[in-house]
Amino acid sequence: MFLRELTITIDHLRGAGPATINALTKAGITDMRSLLCQYPKDWEDRSKIVPLRDFARAPVCTVARVLTHVWIGQGKTRTLKVYVEDASGDRGSLICFNRPFMEKILVTGNYYRIWGVFQYRYGELQSSVFEVEAHGEKDGVAEPSKQSGFGQILPVYPLRAGLNQGMLRKLIRQALDRYAEPLENELPEAIIARDGLLSKPRAVRSIHFPESFEELAKAKETLVYEELFYLEVMVCRRAKARGTAVGSRHTGGGGAAFQHSSYLSPLQKALVERLPFPLTAGQIEAVEEINRDLDGPCQMARLLQGDVGSGKTLVSFLAALRVIEEKGQAAIMAPTELLSRQHAENAARLLEPLGVRPAFLTGTIGASGRHALLKSLASGDIDLVVGTHALFSRDVAYNDLRLVVIDEQHRFGVLQRQAVMAKGERPGLLMMSATPIPRTLALTVFGDMDISIIQDMPAGRKPVKTHLARESNEEKVYAFVRGELEKGKQAYFVYPLIEKIEKTEPDGNKGLKDAQSMAERLASRVFPEYSVALIHSKRDEEEKRTIMERFRLGEIRILVATSVVEVGVDVPNATCMVVEHAERFGLSALHQLRGRVGRGKDQSYCFLVYSDALTEDGKTRLKVMLENTDGFVIAEEDLKLRGPGQIAGTEQSGFFILGIADPVRDSEKLERARSDAFTMLEHDPDCSLPEYECVARVLHRAPPFDNLERSTARA
Ligand code: ADP
Ligand code: MG
Repeated sequence: MFLRELTITIDHLRGAGPATINALTKAGITDMRSLLCQYPKDWEDRSKIVPLRDFARAPVCTVARVLTHVWIGQGKTRTLKVYVEDASGDRGSLICFNRPFMEKILVTGNYYRIWGVFQYRYGELQSSVFEVEAHGEKDGVAEPSKQSGFGQILPVYPLRAGLNQGMLRKLIRQALDRYAEPLENELPEAIIARDGLLSKPRAVRSIHFPESFEELAKAKETLVYEELFYLEVMVCRRAKARGTAVGSRHTGGGGAAFQHSSYLSPLQKALVERLPFPLTAGQIEAVEEINRDLDGPCQMARLLQGDVGSGKTLVSFLAALRVIEEKGQAAIMAPTELLSRQHAENAARLLEPLGVRPAFLTGTIGASGRHALLKSLASGDIDLVVGTHALFSRDVAYNDLRLVVIDEQHRFGVLQRQAVMAKGERPGLLMMSATPIPRTLALTVFGDMDISIIQDMPAGRKPVKTHLARESNEEKVYAFVRGELEKGKQAYFVYPLIEKIEKTEPDGNKGLKDAQSMAERLASRVFPEYSVALIHSKRDEEEKRTIMERFRLGEIRILVATSVVEVGVDVPNATCMVVEHAERFGLSALHQLRGRVGRGKDQSYCFLVYSDALTEDGKTRLKVMLENTDGFVIAEEDLKLRGPGQIAGTEQSGFFILGIADPVRDSEKLERARSDAFTMLEHDPDCSLPEYECVARVLHRAPPFDNLERSTARA
């Protein structure tokens, strides 16, 4: 029997009353398998003596003698306080809140095993969180009972309302005693033998109640590997469901045999001919790869990576043309209304002349407009729709959706992608990102995808000149920007806050400049002769739209903003980016902001203005921006400085909540598990590896290809 087959419900356990069952059910624990997969978050060592004097290092775990009883307080708040003394003569007190019965249990002069969290209060060591067990008289020492947990390593479970450690320990111990023994191994025997892992019954038992910390480590290793192995089995199966041969991922290159003119479809060629510039080699390669995917028998799933400004939008338009040409529909989704509107405007400008019928759909469109639009989408009167995640709301139906493009994919959670892919019949998926994908994500969330990388930038781009400036030197920065404005150029000023913070914040946000006050100051005092506008996430969409439009037309010369302009905004005439309190931004965000300028042929400038009080370390971090123009390198530095928890995309991905494995921490194991899983399925494609409970739960909640099930069912 496999663990996942242990569907006996928890009401079969002794001591699980209705309230407990209710609380467990609320926590998602309904049967033996979910109970046993409720892994501890920590373990408490009650096998070693921790005397009172070491209370600060760990919970005290020792034998002590009861000295006296004292009652404190009056009436209802009357509380028993028991003074104890351990073998080294140190003393402490046990405060028995709501436990008056302890008077009878803790007999003066007797010895007890005591486990408790102690603190220094009112000049003495006190504990109100403690457990005791009779140890007998000084000489007549009794063995600790199994139930009490003394002398053992005990699990510490994550708790939710209505649950407590004692109860969970009791129930899980019982479940282990009754059901663990006959469990079958989930991992192939060969792997267990090769790596010296534990059998399933032993691994499950030891993860909860290990005999030693060595055994605990083995149990963890076994269960972690099991999860990762099945995660990769799923990834591999998904790739196969798409029809791709596993491992056939081309990452740039490989398309050299195609001639520029021969690989483009007629509509694509028509667009390229209308452009005032040639495609870059990277763009050509990406389009080639996409065309091959779309022409091939497999469902496309491709990740397009290219630094800020490398021209990914154009590639997505070309991809869309390829399916539109065959009477299919394409959808391009962007994370913000601002960005999707910009894409929609570009699509209209570039594609309408080719006879393409584009549309724009966001959450803020009026009801009647929306109704008409949905009708045209469903009937196929629209070829290309651009928008926010509103594109994939429940009531949106497509006539024949063949391509889904997700721009700035790291901004989206995984759940949305699932809704997305269900809107068509095996539509191709193109995800675009300027943020490099960390290796662990590449192996898990994107583990079955092909990758294209645009390495080059459009010709004639001059690298943005970046300068660091102290806040006290900002006048010089303003003077420089004035010079650019006089040449007819435009500028962005970016601030970490939207509006002034009135009350003093504990983290010292007080002296921070905010976009709103600075917009007023720049408009009235610094640049009174130029038009200044303010844009941030709290303004309504219509205002944002008008402002962006006027900025694009050059009617507004200075755009004061928060990081809303961070992604995607494209106004080539803007040549200055001034980021104030730059130390408040992550390096990748700064790189994105800097990418808003340098989009035309003119020399552009980025000023990172930092607080005069910035530490040397802080300055060193900002200097990374001076020395690097490559987003991949900057992201890597960011990662080193901030740690993996901050990697773009991982927080939202939801994929990192496996049961016990952590793909970032366990990345080495992940790679091995991947190679094991892939080898296994290569040799024996029909092998009856089970659908693994925990992994299946994760992937079913958030599959990048939600039509995986559909497509395998059909095959
Ligand atoms: P990103 O990859 O950051 O999304 P965009 O698609 O916004 O970049 O492109 C940045 C700018 O570069 C746009 O103004 C676009 O028109 C322009 N562009 C795209 N491809 C080329 C090219 N091959 N040559 C010159 N300019 C290009
Ligand atoms: Mg873009």
